[in-house]
Amino acid sequence: MTDPLVIPPPPAFAAQANVGAEVYARAEADPLAFWAEQAGRLQWDTPWHTVFDDADLPTARWFDGGRLNVAVNCVDRHVAAGRGEKVALHWAGEPGDGRTVTYAQLQDEVCRLANALEELGVVAGDRVVLYLPVLVETVVATMACARIGAVVSLVFGGFSAQALRFRVADTGAKLLIASDGQFRRGQAVGVKAAADEAVEGLDHVEHVLVVRRTGEADVPWTEGRDVWWHDVVDRQSTEHTAPSFDAEHPLFIVYTSGTTGRPKGLVHTTGGYLTHASWTHWALFDLQDDDVYWCQADLAWVTAHTYVLYGPLSNGATQVVYEGSPLTPHPGRHFELIQQHRVTTYYTAPTLVRTFMKHGPQLPAGYDLSSLRLLGSVGEAINPEAWRWLHGHVGGGRCPVVDTWWQSETGAAVIAPLPGVTPLKPGSATVPLPGLAATVVDDAGVETPPGVEGNLVITRPWPGMARTVWRDHDRFVRSYWAPYAERGWYLAGDSASKDEDGYIWIGGRIDDVLNVSGHRLSSIELESALVSHPRVAEAAVVGAPDDVTGQRIVAFVITRDTPGADDAGLTEELRAHVATRVGAVAKPREVVVVTDLPKTRSGKIMRRLMADMTAGRGGGDVTSLTDAGSLTVVEDAWAAHVAGRGDAG
Ligand code: ATP
Ligand code: MG
Repeated sequence: MTDPLVIPPPPAFAAQANVGAEVYARAEADPLAFWAEQAGRLQWDTPWHTVFDDADLPTARWFDGGRLNVAVNCVDRHVAAGRGEKVALHWAGEPGDGRTVTYAQLQDEVCRLANALEELGVVAGDRVVLYLPVLVETVVATMACARIGAVVSLVFGGFSAQALRFRVADTGAKLLIASDGQFRRGQAVGVKAAADEAVEGLDHVEHVLVVRRTGEADVPWTEGRDVWWHDVVDRQSTEHTAPSFDAEHPLFIVYTSGTTGRPKGLVHTTGGYLTHASWTHWALFDLQDDDVYWCQADLAWVTAHTYVLYGPLSNGATQVVYEGSPLTPHPGRHFELIQQHRVTTYYTAPTLVRTFMKHGPQLPAGYDLSSLRLLGSVGEAINPEAWRWLHGHVGGGRCPVVDTWWQSETGAAVIAPLPGVTPLKPGSATVPLPGLAATVVDDAGVETPPGVEGNLVITRPWPGMARTVWRDHDRFVRSYWAPYAERGWYLAGDSASKDEDGYIWIGGRIDDVLNVSGHRLSSIELESALVSHPRVAEAAVVGAPDDVTGQRIVAFVITRDTPGADDAGLTEELRAHVATRVGAVAKPREVVVVTDLPKTRSGKIMRRLMADMTAGRGGGDVTSLTDAGSLTVVEDAWAAHVAGRGDAG
């Protein structure tokens, strides 16, 4: 396949790991018993009577009859167990401020806010939208909502007023929690005006609770509606009695990143989700009591819901949370934080690894990263080149890299290695986790032979699965469950192939699969081949319509060196390189050098916008685009390329 290298777990790591090899077979023999065992790691107020009820599939019921409180599980029970002085959060602010919060302190703050929310009239089932940077208050707010049964929805602080408005309106939120301002790459900018614009005329929003972060002057204010956090929260009692909620009580609504279309609001519930989040966090990241764990995702992305908020807190972990951009005030900021807090576990994203790679190995080499013992990756397929860079230059060659495949819809990781057990192959998320079942099939539902691309499906319900798309159950059924309805399989929307060892290699989105003269090719595999060329820093591959071959491969590349406007030599070099790495059929017909690529706010390449452009289509949904300028850059480069080519393709 893409990379022949197999890396077994380091023996010393395997010897101390939380999870051993036997768990795969045990979970497979009785998946429901396995999940019930993992649910038993949580604190239940009322035990469940039925582990899994499929009467209403695809809306599953897990741990039916059980009742629990997520905030009690994530905070109070650690204090009750005598671990109140353990650090929950090492929070680092962008301007260099910081704060350490113990579990006991977190409990006080969560209780105060829970009391304040009740005073503001928020009751169980109400929706609360958070439009905040990564602050201690953001973590506190998610826990306080869970404590009173309010359904939280986090919106990325960098989103525009319109993007926020869509989510506030879609959820029908009663309360918006925002800040006066945010730091964006070193600058304090006001955001309250955007919050106001987002809620204007939405009568269901009764209050806007405002956290003072940047100390903006003249914060726009609507008397009666707006309240300062410090006015209403600080005076509350630190005592709050937590009610218990049904295992299927909704916990949060998370909007997908919108790579393939308009974002979907996935609804996750309480007992099954927390079970999946908590166990996978403990097992995947081999959580030890003295670990300092850092997942660098913004709290608004699903990654952070599961692997900053609910997973790690339910396990009583000590975490680093960082407010700022990774490159502010300098590109070594993450490595500086790893050094400063002696981080043991660093969970990152391929887009960020490729960004670090542009700065060269001397960037991480400038810091003491010896505390690291485990690395993780999520968000996209990690190119083998980037995997090896992370493994070698950040992890010193000694840290397993857990590449975790999952989605907003799956709630938590589905395909990922157990770091003390599963041999790693750079670029593959390896195999389904214990208790989970996924495979690769063709449109008829037949498993594809090794090496042949097909559709990734999850073949058995799992506890963390989303229960519906908020207010659009039809879309939930149509998008994921209708294609293999008679088998009860979940269609993930990603293409993939399996190798001889059963390892799953994600090939990209189903919509991004290329078809050249009848050969199905994966965009990720071609991009990884391009990125393995020394001159290429980033690549995006799309299929443009072609009369003869159906599609022709167009590669957009960002070079490490100064891009030449019309580098014919580079095109030939890259074509030859891809031919050697993947095969002659995979050679890009055209190579377009660009200085930027359109990405979602969470850093994923939006190939569909480039595919539309090469096909002469326009008008795709761009609300998830991080920066409209990046699309313009690519459009201009494409126009120049087409003009230089002197024909229509
Ligand atoms: P939308 O569904 O609106 O298009 P999205 O799919 O980008 O948005 P998420 O749920 O945040 O939103 O992302 C899940 C997707 O990210 C997966 O379907 C997959 O394509 C990709 N992905 C995540 N982790 C990995 C990984 N480890 N390897 C390969 N792909 C991954
Ligand atoms: Mg998706």
